[in-house]
Amino acid sequence: MNFQYLPILTSNSKEKSNADEIYELKTGSSAMPENSVSENLQLILYGWAYKMIYGRSPQKLILVNMVRSKKPKIQVLETMLDPVKEQKLLHLLFKVNEAIKKEAFYPNPKGGFGCNNCCYGLSCEYAF
Ligand code: SF4
Repeated sequence: MNFQYLPILTSNSKEKSNADEIYELKTGSSAMPENSVSENLQLILYGWAYKMIYGRSPQKLILVNMVRSKKPKIQVLETMLDPVKEQKLLHLLFKVNEAIKKEAFYPNPKGGFGCNNCCYGLSCEYAF
């Protein structure tokens, strides 16, 4: 199991509380742009799953980035679940699911890190 991608849900209660927060822990060699947290598909998906499980939105989605640089630091970025971004993600999931059912290729919509580490990157016309 790769704990780098394991989200932390801080509530198991039916009662609403300030502890309704989702943490995503990452490691990286550089700090992330401040606005990247609100576009983070993993956090949006975790927020949606949280809503499905607990019947309410999380108070905060928090990305903790442990920066492995010469001077290591911990960067904490926060956002809230945005209904528009949530709907866009669900639409994307629907399209990917349809492609899988049809056994059709659906390129990584974000590119970047995923494409950088993909073994098809050299031959894929969608690689970023
Ligand atoms: S390089 Fe192509 S196959 Fe690999 S993750 Fe990117 S889009 Fe997908």
